[in-house]
Order: sequence, then structure tokens, then C-alpha cells
Amino acid sequence: MHDIIIIGGGPAGVSAALTARNRGKSVLIISNDAANSDLYKSKHINNYPGLPRVSGAQLLDNFRAQALDAGAEVITARAISALPFGEKFFVSVGMDNYECLSLILATGVIRAAAFPGEQEFLGRGVSYCATCDGMLYRGKRVAVIGLNAEAEDEARALRAMGCEVEYFDKARAKNFEIRGAQTVDTLVADGEEFPVSGVFVLRETISPGSFMQGLVSEGGHIAVNERMETSVKGVFAAGDCIGRPYQVARAVGQGNTAAISACEYLDA
Ligand SMILES: Cc1cc2nc3c(=O)[nH]c(=O)nc-3n(C[C@H](O)[C@H](O)[C@H](O)COP(=O)(O)OP(=O)(O)OC[C@H]3O[C@@H](n4cnc5c(N)ncnc54)[C@H](O)[C@@H]3O)c2cc1C
Repeated sequence: MHDIIIIGGGPAGVSAALTARNRGKSVLIISNDAANSDLYKSKHINNYPGLPRVSGAQLLDNFRAQALDAGAEVITARAISALPFGEKFFVSVGMDNYECLSLILATGVIRAAAFPGEQEFLGRGVSYCATCDGMLYRGKRVAVIGLNAEAEDEARALRAMGCEVEYFDKARAKNFEIRGAQTVDTLVADGEEFPVSGVFVLRETISPGSFMQGLVSEGGHIAVNERMETSVKGVFAAGDCIGRPYQVARAVGQGNTAAISACEYLDA
């Protein structure tokens, strides 16, 4: 049994692991392969302090190596569900179960079914974040598929950065396909082709409530208070899974807070 199990080995999960290890807790990270982290797909991270122009993959590799050095255990697998049982939690991974006294969810954004080409070109012309990637498309034509409340604001932000924006809401088109070669060059919207250099897909996330009963979510994100406590006692959450803006520095800070709160919960 571990003191803390962390679901997700992106920046939020790794940051939580480092802090919990510093406080003497046993930690198990259960995470999909690193390549599944959003961070891994980013060619250049330009806004993480102290590491200018680091690639997402390099930053994540460093994060994970540091967590292993600090004594965190890591299992590369998908956690299916978590079940509270008395003072403990059981986490299912395939046919196996892992026990812990506290749980930190750092699962990143959970997106709806992808459009054809979306996964293929993620990081090569497809983006979910105008703040992160807009400057890469300055002076170029991009498409915004606006399926959430913030989409129009994001489109305005892209225009302010110097992008020519072709905006699609649900009324304008319903079916999309993203095409290209090395990078995106075309968006097909309801059969009509639009030459673009980038496609910003802005949609609501899916509620993670099905992962654990009693976990309250708001607008597709896990609801937490300022201590990163969820609606389930002993369960904390951090990073993109708790809401926007989706940023590495924010995820790292929240992972740190979640771990401190989990340690205080265990020590109480
Ligand atoms: C192309 C691109 C470019 C970006 N550029 C920037 C940038 O320049 N600057 C910036 O600050 N941010 C950028 N971001 C955003 C940044 O990558 C995220 O904010 C950050 O990675 C969030 O960290 P996280 O730990 O919350 O989630 P993630 O990094 O997504 O990590 C979550 C991990 O948990 C795993 N997971 C989920 N569910 C389970 C489960 N049930 N069992 C096991 N594992 C699970 C996921 O597969 C993933 O590996 C970019 C994102 C993308 C996609």
C-alpha cells in the first residue's frame, strides 16, 4: 500500500510526486505513456521560467527522471477507476488493484471524440490553446472550431496576435476533417475545403465523474477548492483536469498544492 497514488504523470502529477516525496510519503504514479501527455506534443515551451525554448518532450523527460530519483514509483498503464473503501482507496489498473490512503488526480484534459486528422496533427498544426500556440501562426491563416463558451474570445486573441482567423461555430458547420502532409494545410468543413496553417479545436471537456463516484465536476472539470480538495475526502486534483487556462506552470503549482494538502490530510 502507498500513502499517495497519483493518476497522471504530466507536469501536475510529477510536481505532486516530488513534493510528497520531500515530505517522506510513499508515492505511486500511475500514468499512460509519456507520449500521451499534452506536454509531450509541444515542440517548444517558451513560457516555463528558467528553461527557455525547451521542448515539451525534453521537459517531461526531465520531470519524470527527477520524480524517479526522488523515489516515486511509476507504473505505465491506464487507471480505469478508483473506489473509496473505509480509509483507503482501491485503484483499478486492468486486472490489478492498487491501494492508497490518499489520491491525487492529475489526468489532464479529457476531450470528446476527435475529428478525423485531429490526433494525427496535434502539435503539427492542431492546437487546443490560443495563448500557447497563437504566436506560431502570426501572419498566417488559421481556423477556429469554436465549440465552447471561450472560443470567440480565443478567436479574438488570435486576431490580436496577427492571425487571419476563419471561425466555425456549430451553426456554420458540423463535420470537420483536418488534412495535411508534415503539418496541417487544409480544414474540410461540411465538405468545403479551407486552406489553413493551423486549426484550433476549442471544445468542452468530458466530466471525469465516471472515474470515481461522488466526484463533483463543473463544466467538464473536476471541482476543487483552493487547497485542491475535491468533493471526496482524501482525494485531491491538479492541472488541466481542474480547468483553464491549460498551462504547464499552473499545473506544476497546483500539483505542489495538492501534494501539500494530501500530506496534511495524512498527517492529521
Ligand atoms: C500542442 C500543445 C502545446 C502546448 N504548449 C504549451 C506552452 O507552450 N506552454 C504551456 O504552458 N502549456 C502548453 N500546453 C499545455 C500544457 O501541455 C498542459 O497545460 C500541461 O501538460 C498540463 O499538465 P497536466 O499534468 O495537467 O496534464 P497532462 O500533461 O495532459 O498529463 C496528464 C497525463 O495523465 C494521463 N492520464 C489521463 N488519464 C489517465 C488514466 N485514467 N490513467 C493513467 N493515466 C492517465 C494522460 O495520458 C497524461 O499522460 C500545450 C499543450 C499542447 C497540446
